[in-house]
Amino acid sequence: MFALPGANYRCMNIGDSTVFARGCFVKYDDARVGLLTHGLNYGTGCFEGIRGYWNAEEGELYLLQLREHFERLHESAKTLLMEIPHGVEELVQLTIELCARNGYEENVYVRPLLFKSAEDVGVRLLGVDDAFAIVAVPFKSYYDAEAGLRAGVSSWRRIDDTMAPARAKITGTYINSALAKSEAQLNGFDEAIMLSFDGHVAEGSAANLFLVKRGVLHTPDASQNCLEGITRRSVLTLATSELGLEVVERPIDRSELYAADELFVTGTAAGIAFIKSVDHRTVGDGQLGPITRRLSDLHQRVRTGRDPKYRAWVTPAYAGRKVSAAG
Ligand code: PMP
Repeated sequence: MFALPGANYRCMNIGDSTVFARGCFVKYDDARVGLLTHGLNYGTGCFEGIRGYWNAEEGELYLLQLREHFERLHESAKTLLMEIPHGVEELVQLTIELCARNGYEENVYVRPLLFKSAEDVGVRLLGVDDAFAIVAVPFKSYYDAEAGLRAGVSSWRRIDDTMAPARAKITGTYINSALAKSEAQLNGFDEAIMLSFDGHVAEGSAANLFLVKRGVLHTPDASQNCLEGITRRSVLTLATSELGLEVVERPIDRSELYAADELFVTGTAAGIAFIKSVDHRTVGDGQLGPITRRLSDLHQRVRTGRDPKYRAWVTPAYAGRKVSAAG
């Protein structure tokens, strides 16, 4: 479908990188939005966060669970009464071409974004033009996962689905995460754990939460207003299929966190990161626990295309070729 001409091209900075915006491949610096853009002022948009993992031995960039992310993006768009001008398979191909055009030889983060693009005053969803873009940037790690996270329960509750859709990735609702994360950092923690409106554990600021107790894996069920994370789903699959663990999705109380043997968060940006303390209480012995380690090692193999059984979870971006130039 897409022509893939030319020699290798490696972006030196984000402004020179190639993005996909409003139907064309253009330079990042040429894809601008105006100050009155509806999505910028009112948070009327939805997005995804996708990771690509560089496998140096193979000279390949593996994009993790592309289809799942684009399916969720379509669901978020539907919730916002918006429409993405590309189907899931087309979005997969566009992302492959975008990565190939940029030719990154390192881990990347891919950000598809659908937003209300009209430069117009008035809060509403209907009758306001949309625009769609995909950006890919080099990405290092989100946390220092080796060190473990110090988490604190936030005074900000996770948005309830009766207030704004909790299971859609909506730009505006991320103020909830930003407030919780910032409060946690100001209080000396690395990460926030948000409770739901009725007081059960919901999730981290941008990651799902798991608890290990006596060899059983527990995570808040989907009715706890957490985003139904793609990494969460993968971890549930790997835990049952590969580690033979019992997994339970259920409401979890705050004080269960203090008595957990292991705690960890999962997310596309976060990966699998262990929590070493919650509200100043050490989790287990404060070290990376055995179940978290096994899941993390397994996930690491899968996402870099090194596990043949889970090859279908990754899409090679280069498959032997890279392309050049915006246009
Ligand atoms: N919860 C929230 C609020 C998030 O922003 C994210 C990151 N997308 C997650 C959970 C984890 O979801 P995923 O594994 O799909 O990245």
